[in-house]
Amino acid sequence: MRASDNRRIDGRRLWDGLMAMAEIGATPKGGVRRLALSDVDRRGRARFREWCEAAGLAVRVDAMGNMFARREGRDPARLPVLFGSHLDSQPSGGKFDGALGVLAGLEVIRTLNEMGLVTEAPLELVNWTDEEGSRFGHSLMGSGVWAGVYAPAATEALVDAEGVSVSAALDAIGARGPEPAAAFPADAYFELHIEQGPILEREGCAIGIVTGGQAQIWYDAVATGQESHAGTTPPEARRDALLCAARVIELVDRMMRARGEHGRGTVGELHVSPNSRNVIPGEVRFSVEFRHPDEAEVTRIAAQFPREAGFVARDCGVALELRELFRIPAQPFDAECIALVRQAAMRLGYSSREIVSGAGHDAVYVARRVPAAMIFTPCKDGLSHNEAESIAPHEAEAGCQVLFEAVLARANRR
Ligand SMILES: [Zn+2]
Repeated sequence: MRASDNRRIDGRRLWDGLMAMAEIGATPKGGVRRLALSDVDRRGRARFREWCEAAGLAVRVDAMGNMFARREGRDPARLPVLFGSHLDSQPSGGKFDGALGVLAGLEVIRTLNEMGLVTEAPLELVNWTDEEGSRFGHSLMGSGVWAGVYAPAATEALVDAEGVSVSAALDAIGARGPEPAAAFPADAYFELHIEQGPILEREGCAIGIVTGGQAQIWYDAVATGQESHAGTTPPEARRDALLCAARVIELVDRMMRARGEHGRGTVGELHVSPNSRNVIPGEVRFSVEFRHPDEAEVTRIAAQFPREAGFVARDCGVALELRELFRIPAQPFDAECIALVRQAAMRLGYSSREIVSGAGHDAVYVARRVPAAMIFTPCKDGLSHNEAESIAPHEAEAGCQVLFEAVLARANRR
């Protein structure tokens, strides 16, 4: 029997930590507003550092403000096992998105301290800078630069709505550290996060074993018809750009549903011109995005969608211009790391299922450099990016216990 077999993390202490962090940037409706690199973020970081140092961790910070809090292992030759998430939030975000993974990581450390257990490999608890992207328009910023997905200089030049650059914001709150913002060798990365969707709750599962992130394809679309008088233009003379957009939206939905449970297709943004009730719309600009865990499906969509959208536009007498913005490849997580999460959930007797991450997460970029896996916990009504985002203490505890077991198993593996 291993020393860890009887050891439980302290669910109460984890919950108290979550509630204490949620006071920083607390909103009247019970949520959190802790925008990346804001003064509120500075306070969150300071409290995190305080807690880490009190737990005996040595905190390093890189040039993007990513924080790494290290606990030495027994074997100096071993690479560190990383785990964590992010402390920034949406403008009207919840208490748990990101914070759960960071605070659960701290609870893992505190539990090991109490056990007096030194792992073979060193451990590093991570707080990634600006996961949400709501201030500078660029999600997964810190982990993206770290993983080499984004160029540091271009990222630092991004500005918020007030014209403040990432670079200036890093300096303004003293978040810039001396370490280069670049991947370093690590043994693994684990991230606990709320699901932000309804699947685990619907199926009564305590733990989601996340197998990877989905492939995505994004388009900008412009439908150009002809503005004309709503009252005088007969049906055959109409070239209605909004009708075309509406039919393309219907096409996106149809293509999504044809792919069953894993299909995703969304038109979330629409700009109608001239947007007047008695003018037939002459131009509509809109967004289109598709996602699927299987990259081959996204490749098929990339071939099918422009062609079928073209037929729709022709039937409407409208010109449709489609610009593919980018494709993000599917990112499968590491089989061994996934297995550790699965084994932990099984050993602890938690109901679990495999799940693909619908949202982007730091782990998806980190996985390009380091073997990675994620653990999801259910959240109430699948709600997130919302002040009403909610989880139960026992759900946080279960996720943290699985994180503890997975990290310990990896750090002590032969
Ligand atoms: Zn998050």
